[in-house]
Amino acid sequence: MKKMMFLALGLLSAFLFGQKEKYYQQHAKYKMEIDVDAAHFTYKGKQTLTYTNNSPDELKTVYYHLYWNAFKPGSMMDQRAANLGVNGDSRLQVGGVSRLASIPTEEEGVQNIRSIEQNGTPLRFEIQETVMKVVLNEPIKPNSTTTFTLEWDAVIPYQIRRAGRNNREGIDMTVTQWYPKIAEYDYDGWATFDYIGREFHAPFSDYDVTIKIDKDYVIGAGGVLQNPTEVKGYESDAVIKADKDGKATWRWKATNMLDFAWAADRDYTVETFTVLDGPKVYYVYQKSDKTAFWEQSKPLITKYFQIMNADYGRYAYPTYSFVQGGDGGMEYGMVTMILGEHNSLERLVGLMVHEGTHMWFQQMLASNESTSPWMDEGFTSYAETKVMSQLFPSAEVQTNPFVGSLRSYANFTKTGKEEPASWLADHHDDGRAYSIASYVKGETFLVQLGYIVGEKNLALIMKEFFNQWSMKHPSSRDFMHIAQRISGMDLKWFHHYWINTVKTIDYGIKNVEYLESSTRVTLINKGQVPMPIDFSLLTADQKIVTYQIPLNMTREWKKSDLYGAFTTLHYWPWTQKEYTLDIPYTKAQIKALGIDFSGRLADVNLEDNYIEVE
Ligand SMILES: [Zn+2]
Repeated sequence: MKKMMFLALGLLSAFLFGQKEKYYQQHAKYKMEIDVDAAHFTYKGKQTLTYTNNSPDELKTVYYHLYWNAFKPGSMMDQRAANLGVNGDSRLQVGGVSRLASIPTEEEGVQNIRSIEQNGTPLRFEIQETVMKVVLNEPIKPNSTTTFTLEWDAVIPYQIRRAGRNNREGIDMTVTQWYPKIAEYDYDGWATFDYIGREFHAPFSDYDVTIKIDKDYVIGAGGVLQNPTEVKGYESDAVIKADKDGKATWRWKATNMLDFAWAADRDYTVETFTVLDGPKVYYVYQKSDKTAFWEQSKPLITKYFQIMNADYGRYAYPTYSFVQGGDGGMEYGMVTMILGEHNSLERLVGLMVHEGTHMWFQQMLASNESTSPWMDEGFTSYAETKVMSQLFPSAEVQTNPFVGSLRSYANFTKTGKEEPASWLADHHDDGRAYSIASYVKGETFLVQLGYIVGEKNLALIMKEFFNQWSMKHPSSRDFMHIAQRISGMDLKWFHHYWINTVKTIDYGIKNVEYLESSTRVTLINKGQVPMPIDFSLLTADQKIVTYQIPLNMTREWKKSDLYGAFTTLHYWPWTQKEYTLDIPYTKAQIKALGIDFSGRLADVNLEDNYIEVE
């Protein structure tokens, strides 16, 4: 009887709660025909979008992004840049004055929607600057497909951020966030973020894009070029086909991507090399003295893809392109737009590695960047730091490649300007606070996790995260579920402290008492974020002896880590301020002692963490 009731309750709760948890994702298929007027930096476009609603919800309205409408005086992006002044994004303002305010009228970004139809019937639409709301004639039923056809024209904006014409290195056009793009719909509803400069979110989509442009142009793009023998730059035996207007037609295809981006210039050179068991890599850039490091970077980029494949999961696409363009570095599907001129090989490779790594943490693991930028920028920065320490080894980065990030985090906490990493990407009040919250806090999140669960477990967690969530839209909850399952630990407290708050870690050595046959150490927790503590000694005969003091909130203790064996002591409850341990070594036997010899713990005050014994 009891058994029956439990069974019934179980079925009922599965019915009530199970359904909303079922994972689904929307799908979009774009076919676009673009006719570029290169002399005037404009184009006309036609788009057929086949949209599949895999959600259990009936959709009566859909939303599109029209990002280029942000690039004009008085736009929300302009207002935001003006309001934040010198604290805002340095690319959007000079000396606190918004760069958007002075864009000449003829160079304002424009996306004019001429018409949109659903299954052949015109639709009503309302444009709210960078977001277009479209009211449907026929709602899209769950598990059904509909077709939208759209005609529009556009003006490629003055180059301010990412997209634009005539960038500072002389690239004619960087064409990114450039077409009417359907917004993502998921359990959180439509992702209708106004574009004011930061991150994106989109459904996985297939692309079939035809671009007509003056035959003298070379295009670099994220996708597979279908007709390299008919256009300039890709094949030495190409016979360039031009129409009566002198335009060549470029045909690109891509599958399962979040975005399609391209750039065009008359002076691009295209170089290519293939990574064994990896993508065919394209370099599309202006070859000159200023871009000489591109040539030298090839063996390093080959090694880079191999490391990423081995450590984080296999790159899933046939090609990847590094294209000179834009305003710094920005990732898109199968392509990045990066500035090409750098004063060292390490800087160029660092940028390539960062943007390339977004293929894993922005593209293949497509978390919502607008709501959780730390998962994309932070995890990308983590892998970037590790890979760069392998490509450019030095004594410091060999022992702990994260020293620089930990230092900049600790220093920033002292400015009082820190903002929680859980804030929406575009809503940080300070550009530096955004960088710390997203890049550094996200990176150090994984560094702390490695410290708590052990590096072997962290590596397993990263791989399992990829295996389970590649080509999907994971949330932080999905990541934490895997982290807890693999480590066996409760880690929710850590996620909460690190991401939702600006509380800091601050442990120290309060007192050391040298006894006749042992040493008594009293540690103190002066911070607000509790952590397990690894405590080590360097003995007079140069051995490292380590003790693990678990935090009972994790319930399970760390079994192994980077730095050899350790002894696990009694746990330290988070409510308790001090902890005393007796070490069976005398003063004469100890050279130094301290908290976390690995240097991974993001303690904001390190001065009281180590003692050298005279
Ligand atoms: Zn990034």
